[in-house]
Amino acid sequence: MAEPVQRLRIDLTGVVQGVGFRPFVYQLSRRFKFTGWVVNNSCGVRIEVEGAQKNLDLFCQQLRQQLPPLARINSLVITPLSCQLSTSFEIRTSERFTEQTAEITADSSVCGQCLAELFDSEDRRYGYPFINCTNCGPRYSIVTAIPYDRPQTTMARFALCSRCQQEYDDPSSRRFHAQPNACPQCGPQLSLSDADGVLLDQCDPLQETIRSLRAGKIVAVKGLGGYHLVVDASKDDAIKRLRQRKQRDEKPLAVMSADLDQVRRYATLNDVEISLLTGAERPIVVVAHRHDSPLSAQIAPRNRTIGVMLPYTPLHHQLLRDHFIALVMTSGNRSDEPIAYGDDEARSRLQGIADLFLCHDREIHTRVDDSIVQVVAGQPMMLRRSRGYVPQTIELPAQLCAPGVTTLAVGGEQKNTLCLLRGRQAVYERTYWRFS
Ligand SMILES: [Zn+2]
Ligand SMILES: [Zn+2]
Repeated sequence: MAEPVQRLRIDLTGVVQGVGFRPFVYQLSRRFKFTGWVVNNSCGVRIEVEGAQKNLDLFCQQLRQQLPPLARINSLVITPLSCQLSTSFEIRTSERFTEQTAEITADSSVCGQCLAELFDSEDRRYGYPFINCTNCGPRYSIVTAIPYDRPQTTMARFALCSRCQQEYDDPSSRRFHAQPNACPQCGPQLSLSDADGVLLDQCDPLQETIRSLRAGKIVAVKGLGGYHLVVDASKDDAIKRLRQRKQRDEKPLAVMSADLDQVRRYATLNDVEISLLTGAERPIVVVAHRHDSPLSAQIAPRNRTIGVMLPYTPLHHQLLRDHFIALVMTSGNRSDEPIAYGDDEARSRLQGIADLFLCHDREIHTRVDDSIVQVVAGQPMMLRRSRGYVPQTIELPAQLCAPGVTTLAVGGEQKNTLCLLRGRQAVYERTYWRFS
């Protein structure tokens, strides 16, 4: 006698788009020999699966337990349906719903596998600063609309080459449906220009940037959510010049080092700080500055602490590895202004500050600052919740939320924080709206 077969619809919300969730569902369904489909919609992900009744429970269990690294489920609703005797399992094109409630995923630091490929001379993406996969890379900063699909990101203008397309279409690839997928043949490219915006196309942009930083130059580097002003953290004169040009007297400057070993040369770290520094969010962590630090005293004058972060883009790794103990990486702005993120805007606003501009042609759609965390009494205290954390929601206890009411909260001062309470989900956003 044939085993009883059942069909279920599963609606999921949370961080389920742009994190390899559909391929994960696809592979899980194939493992159980289920038929049906999975689709991104404006609320999250909808799955219909049909298969042996006894395996469906197990499927739902594994759906929760074996999530891809960046995924998070907020709700999971199961509706039994009548069987359709479908014959295959497929990933469908995204649906559009009138209600837009899907969560956009936060940007994530480059993963270990991509990093290994970046420095593997045999790999086709060797040395390519825009390497990424479904487990890492840009998200929030490049999304222009939801659902999260390539045409609705700033990668839309780059047509995938045949090899990238193959990976994108292959369910067994780590880049299956990885929206920002790219390679040196088809993806974004670096460019370097001088202080007047003249393109320096006769040199390798990366090597020339490293050489200039070693010579004490100030370089504006386009990152994930905006521009940084970068100088060698061991050069007094370069940092003095940066402070002068940026009109920033003594406020501490954040630094970035290639790895924990380098950080330990100038800072002491506890376990909580280490886990924050190495987490996928990669915030700036405010830690104790060693008195025998080899870095310039100009970084944080009269301060016993120092703001440190580890590299989060492939480009950061390439800039730092084997070249510097640390680089000062401070927001690309003049004092009290928001971080520059558009290329023309950066060029005009940072003119007179930066000696060189290291740019690329993947547009930043949403400005995102570095997050800042400090460990107080053994607990992380968020000083600035931004890159890596936004726009992830925080679920509040039911008693704090009035049903059917949407609440908006805004902070004071120029660099305020905005929070929108939608149902039980608190959506934070650090903004630069000025109420002057
Ligand atoms: Zn990756
Ligand atoms: Zn390609």
